[in-house]
Amino acid sequence: MRAEIQFIILLLFLFYGSYATLVVKKDLEPQRISQRSQQLKKDLTEKDYAFMNMVLNDDDGALEKGEFSSSGSVIVKNGKIVGRGKGLLVDPMSHAEVQAVRDAHGHLGTTSLDGCVLYSSTQPCPMCLSLLYLTNVDKIVYFMPSDAASGTAVQSLNQRVYSALIRHPSERTIPEVRLFREDLD
Ligand SMILES: [Zn+2]
Repeated sequence: MRAEIQFIILLLFLFYGSYATLVVKKDLEPQRISQRSQQLKKDLTEKDYAFMNMVLNDDDGALEKGEFSSSGSVIVKNGKIVGRGKGLLVDPMSHAEVQAVRDAHGHLGTTSLDGCVLYSSTQPCPMCLSLLYLTNVDKIVYFMPSDAASGTAVQSLNQRVYSALIRHPSERTIPEVRLFREDLD
């Protein structure tokens, strides 16, 4: 009996230990993210700030002309601009980042943006973020968070994409059905 009680007490300690670890981890998570964000910012150079200022100043000019949406991007490699882009109001695919990647591809003659940094007036949306991952950009520096740059309808669409990416294709909100050769005979 005594051994059983000791065993139960040991189990309770183990459960409490796991629970306490989880709670502490959860509390530390925002702090860890904040420290990481601050470190990334500290690592930026004067050139990073200069390129971002250039994107924002250029953007204001375009906005005054009423030609573009408020987004602008440049891609820089080895300190030189290799791609520029402006978000067109009329085309849902012509986001500034997409145009900048296309422009960089034209200049560099490669689909890889290894060693490149993207400076953008707004945080890339899921479509642009995917493109930046697929082209292997080194770093993204942005000014306005996407939440602040878009309305709640767009935010919810963005969230829909992020949620879909971590699900199995058959369980996404837009279901994906695979057909085999024998299904088509
Ligand atoms: Zn975008």
